[in-house]
Formats: sequence, structure tokens, C-alpha cells
Amino acid sequence: MINEPGLRSFVHVAVPVPGLALLTYSVPEGLTRPVVGARVVVPLGSRIVTGIVMDDASASTIEDAAVKPIKEVLDAEAFVPPEVVELARWTAEYYAAGPGDTITSVLPPKARGTRADAHKTMRVASITASGLEAVGLPSAQITTKQREALQLLWASPDGIPTPQLAGRGIAADVVARLVRHGFVSIRQDRLDRDPFQSATVQPPPADPGRQLTMEQAAAFERLRAMAESRRFQVALLHGVTGSGKTELYLRLAAAVRESGRSVLMLVPEIALTPVVVSVFRHAFGDRVAIQHSGLSDGERHDQWQRIRRGDVDVVVGTRSAIFAPLERVGLIVVDEEHDASYKQEESPRYHGRDVAIIRGQRADALVVLGSATPSMESYHNATTGRYERVVLERRVLDRPLAAVTVVDMREEYAERGPDVILSQALGAAIALRLERREQALVLLNRRGFATAVFCRQCAGTMDCPNCSVSLVVHGEGVSRRARCHYCNYTMRVPAACPHCAGPYLEQAGFGTERVEAEVRRLCPQARVARLDRDAIRRKGALAEILSRFRTGDIDVLVGTQMIAKGHDFPRVTLVGVVSADVGLGLADFRASERTFQLLTQVVGRAGRGDEPGEAIVQTIYPDHYSIQLARRQDYRAFFERELKFRQQMRYPPFQSLVNTVIRSQTFAGAMDDAADVVRRVREGAEAAGVRVLGPAPAPLGKLRGEYRAQLLTKGSNRTRMRGLLLSALAARPDLDKRIVVDVDPVSVL
Ligand code: ADP
Ligand code: ZN
Repeated sequence: MINEPGLRSFVHVAVPVPGLALLTYSVPEGLTRPVVGARVVVPLGSRIVTGIVMDDASASTIEDAAVKPIKEVLDAEAFVPPEVVELARWTAEYYAAGPGDTITSVLPPKARGTRADAHKTMRVASITASGLEAVGLPSAQITTKQREALQLLWASPDGIPTPQLAGRGIAADVVARLVRHGFVSIRQDRLDRDPFQSATVQPPPADPGRQLTMEQAAAFERLRAMAESRRFQVALLHGVTGSGKTELYLRLAAAVRESGRSVLMLVPEIALTPVVVSVFRHAFGDRVAIQHSGLSDGERHDQWQRIRRGDVDVVVGTRSAIFAPLERVGLIVVDEEHDASYKQEESPRYHGRDVAIIRGQRADALVVLGSATPSMESYHNATTGRYERVVLERRVLDRPLAAVTVVDMREEYAERGPDVILSQALGAAIALRLERREQALVLLNRRGFATAVFCRQCAGTMDCPNCSVSLVVHGEGVSRRARCHYCNYTMRVPAACPHCAGPYLEQAGFGTERVEAEVRRLCPQARVARLDRDAIRRKGALAEILSRFRTGDIDVLVGTQMIAKGHDFPRVTLVGVVSADVGLGLADFRASERTFQLLTQVVGRAGRGDEPGEAIVQTIYPDHYSIQLARRQDYRAFFERELKFRQQMRYPPFQSLVNTVIRSQTFAGAMDDAADVVRRVREGAEAAGVRVLGPAPAPLGKLRGEYRAQLLTKGSNRTRMRGLLLSALAARPDLDKRIVVDVDPVSVL
């Protein structure tokens, strides 16, 4: 609609600048009013930026003089589909984040570019109707090479890129002559960089003809009926590890695609869930796009554009893929829905699973949350009937779950001294695997060689100067370094104590590096590798390690929670857990839940092939319910036990939480500011049914040189909680830059 002279109209624009609110701009006379979702070029202070039109603001009463006009409208139609604009708006509001932060998550990289999206192109040749007839022409009228080219093209209805033709011995002049005769046509195609090429881990190809188990078939029928209803519903697919959930996602996706709708498949981490990705890639070929942060900007941009153009109808990606510009969504799958990596730990602090549910609701789609160890929230929703529970209780082919032994390390220490890392049982079990040419996974959810250094003379420790944690020793001998896992501060481990100059520095505690060394010492003939954040710094290292383990070049893989996620390694018959209690000591209300999930998941990696699996879990709290119930792999009992605790403590899923952290140069400064915010929030809290806890020093009291104080708000009405907090913070704009508001936190450290 062209603006009428004399009538000014306005739009709200979100620009990708952190912290910025919605901005209002006027549409100059004579300019077409941009639609919601279109990109516009606007002045911002002394800068010129590209933003997205969020809504029409013509109804608002605005002081004309203050409002600047849009400079340029880049798109006649929505660049971001309106439903995704709405989703971004919901996310910004629900998570108390600025539209500036949120729109940045939604846009592909480089979307701030100009109208013509620069793309590499390539020439693609295809056969024409007269070309089809020409294949049969007598040799006098057509050369052998030309006929050969036409036959090749005949077999490829989508055409063949000219470089590929050249590769098959069809020279450019042959093609040119065929084009002149009208037998072949040439088009320019966008050349999309293929992000799948770098995915080197190739799982065994799925067998398309294979029969679903009875349980799978029953689950599939229910899920398909739900998808066909075209109503919003959430299904919790609760299937034990190895029950064949991926197969169900795949068939469901195929069914939804056939019905003319599209599919969004979320996975926690692409690199750690390669099976899902390649199974989807295999099944849907070019119709699937991939979206995750490991791609280069260029790759991500290409994938985004393919989705937007409608070239794909299946998107597989990590949490940000929930904002993919896909239309007609009929199914959203959130695989491993309990995984903490769905929560973004920077603004907007959204939870991919929860945004998925909102997106599904608005699209009348089926949302499937899959897990062997559902989050407390999701399982609770299934017991109250908000979600449908769909169950897979058995592993495919009736493979048994691994038998789990718990080793009480206190006994082991009493018997063999305090330095034991691998119990006798675990050591013997690893040796047995080597003998049988089977594989083992060994989990310790803590990186490094030693986790602390202390002085025997003055008891001084080596702590990070910037954070309230001790430095972790990496490496051995001369290459030994002490490093902070939060701020990366690094120093050489000195020969003498930095406090008293005494020569008695000792290392304490141990991490994955030490376990790796211990396995090598115990089994010198074993091929051992390590998988943790340090081991995969180099690009490509992760895929390489996983692929070497898959092909059998590695016997024992030691690692952090990375080894527990979604892998399907059929030759693993032993899973060892060193220090199952690592996470239990954390001052976080989800500590037990996390421990139970991690143990159950990692134990689930054993015995997925023909041979049954075994797991050995070392702990100093053998009676803790997380460990006992993970041993029995009894999810239901864990859920009920944990639910009582949550109810008593008024934690989710009974009450919602908002965690607010304030940073300051001094401890007193942080506490005072937090106290002030607490006081302001409390003013309206009781009437709103909201409880405020704090101020208190955050469990991680100092981080990157700043002190941290926190306050927790608990209540059943998030809108009210957010409202109270935001109005308290409105009175303290000076805190803007050093405050974090986390709605539905997954971690409160
Ligand atoms: P989950 O994700 O539930 O842990 P997966 O989807 O990884 O389980 O499946 C476990 C293994 O069983 C995979 O190797 C998969 O290919 C295989 N599988 C799945 N369904 C069937 C079936 N119906 N028949 C035979 N094998 C199956
Ligand atoms: Zn630090």
C-alpha cells in the first residue's frame, strides 16, 4: 500500500543490536509501506542498520518530530515469515529479552546485506523435448558424443551441472552445439555450499524395508494419527535407550511430508547425534536442510535461503533451528528433549523445546518430545494429561538393557589406598573387552589431569585470580599447565608454592586426562582415545575420533558427557563410570536429575549390538537415589522420588523460577544492588503470589573478575514474576549492563 500524502504511517522495527527495544520509524510519503517480516534500512544514531519490520505501528500516537524515516525497504514480501516474526516476539517477551537480541537469533548471518543476495551460481544442463526425440536420430545427424550426452541427461530429469558433464567426458563444445540445436537447455542454479560434506561420521545405513517392532508399530500408529488430526498436540515419546526412536521420527517425518506439510527436527548437538542427521539426509536427500552453529556463516546463509525459498521441507538442526523460516510446519520433533543444551545461555535465554511447543501450537502441528530420560517438566505434563505419553519399553530385537554393577569406592579406598582411579572390577572388565575385541566407554564428567593443586606446607591452593574456582592441571611433566575452566586464565605449574615458597606442591583430584593415562598404564596394548572439550579443539577432531571409534581403531574411549549422547556403537559392551557423583555436589536443584539422566544415558550406550552390555558405576554415594535408580534404570521411580523433593522445595515443575544475577566490581556492590532489587520486587510480591529468595552470593561467586549476587523469584504466574522484576529494574537503569534475568533457568549456578 502506497502511503497517502499527508498521512504518516509508522512501523515497529527490531534491529540486530543487543539490548535494544523495538524502534519506531515512519514510512516516508510515496514509499510502499513494508510488510511484517520485511527488511528495512534505518538510521540508528549515526549508523545505518538493517532491521526487520515487527508490526504496523500506525495506530500508535507518536511525537512526529522524534521519529526518523525508513531509508529503504529491501523486500516486497516478508523476508522472515510472519509466523517466525511472531515467534521471535513471543520469545523476546517470555524470556524478558530485547527484540534486538532475539531478532539476531532469528536472522541468518549476513542478512544485513543488500537486496540481491550474492550467491555463487553454476550452469545446469537439461534435455529438452526435442532432445528426447533426438536421442533416436540416425548417426548421420548426431555424433556419438552428442548422443552419449543426451542419454546421460535423459537419465537425470533434474539436469546435470556442466562441470559434472565435463567430468564424464562431455566437453563444453559438445554441450554448446546441443544447445544451439535446441536439444539441451541451460539454466543458472544457485550453488549451495553443502554442509553435509564435512559430516564424516557415517553410521550404518538404515534399512528402509525393515519391519517395525510391535511396540514401534503401535507407537507409530498413534503418533501418525495425532499428526493427521492437524491439531496442536504434544506427545512425549518415552523410549528406553536403544528402543528405536530415530526410526519413528523418520517414518513420522515421511508421513507428514507426504501430507504436504513440513518437518522440523531438533537435536541437541549435530556432531554428537550424527546418526539422526545422516538417517534424515539419507531418506530425504536434497529436501533436507541443516542448521547449526558449527556451520560457517556462508553455509548457514545458504541453508537458510534454501529453506526460505521452499526448496526443502525437512530441517534438522540444533536449538536455533526452531526459528527456521519453514512454512506449513506439521511436525516438530525434539530429540533428547531433556538435554540442557536446548537452553541458550545468553540472551535471549530461550529453551528450544519450549519455543518448539509454542511454534507447534501456532502452526496446529504435532510436537514430539523424545527421550529415555524425560525432563521432570515434560514427564509431569504427561502425567497430568497435558501431553500424550507414548511408550517404548523394550529395546529393538529384545536386546536386554545393560546389567549395572555399583562399586562402592569407599571400600576400594580402604583396601587399596586413596589413589585408586579404576576399581578392580572396572580394570578387569576393560581387560576382558580387549581380549574379546569388544569396545569400552569410560565416563568421567570432569576434564583435565588434576582438578586442584595445594601446598602441603601452608595448605595454600592455586585458584583462578579472576574466578572463585581452583585451577585445573592439564598435561603431565614439562607441558603441565594450570587453567581456569571459566575464563581460560592459564599459568605454568610452579615448582614451589606461590604463597609460602615451600617445595611441597601436590596435585589432587583427577579428570579425564588422568583416567586416560590410567587406562593406558593398566592396558598398555589398548588403543585409547579421549573425547572431551579439550580433545576436540582442532576442527574436525570430534568427527575423527567418533569415526575411529566406530570403525574399531579405538578400543577404549574415555570422555565427559559427550560420550553419553545418542551414539549407537554396536561393538560397545562395557560402559565404565568413574566418579558417578561428580555432579551431585553442585548447589543446583537439578543436580539429582542431571546425574540420573547422565548415568542412564551412558549405561544405555552398552549392548546395542548382538552382544549384551555391562556397566560398572563407581561412586562414594552408592545409596543415593540417583545412582540406585539409574542402576535399575527405573525412570518412573526416580521421577516420583524427585517430584516429592521438588514439591517440598517449591521448585519446577510445581513453581516457576526466574534467576536474576547481578555483577559488580566488588562483593559488597553486587550484594547491595541485589538487595535493592529484592526490596523493590518484594513490594508487590505477596499480592502477586510471588516469593523472592535472596540476595545471596551466587554459587559461582566470582567470574571473570566480577562478583556475582543472585535473587530467585518463585511463583506460579510467570507474567506477574516478570512484571515485578521488570518494573523493579526500570527504577535501576544503571544495572542494565550488569544484570542477567533468566526465566526458567536450567542451571542456577
Ligand atoms: P534410541 O534412539 O531409541 O536409543 P535408535 O533409534 O538409535 O534408538 O535405535 C537403536 C538401534 O536399533 C539402531 O541401530 C537402529 O538402527 C536399530 N533399529 C531401530 N528400529 C529397528 C527395527 N525395527 N528393527 C531392527 N533394528 C532397528
Ligand atoms: Zn577464571
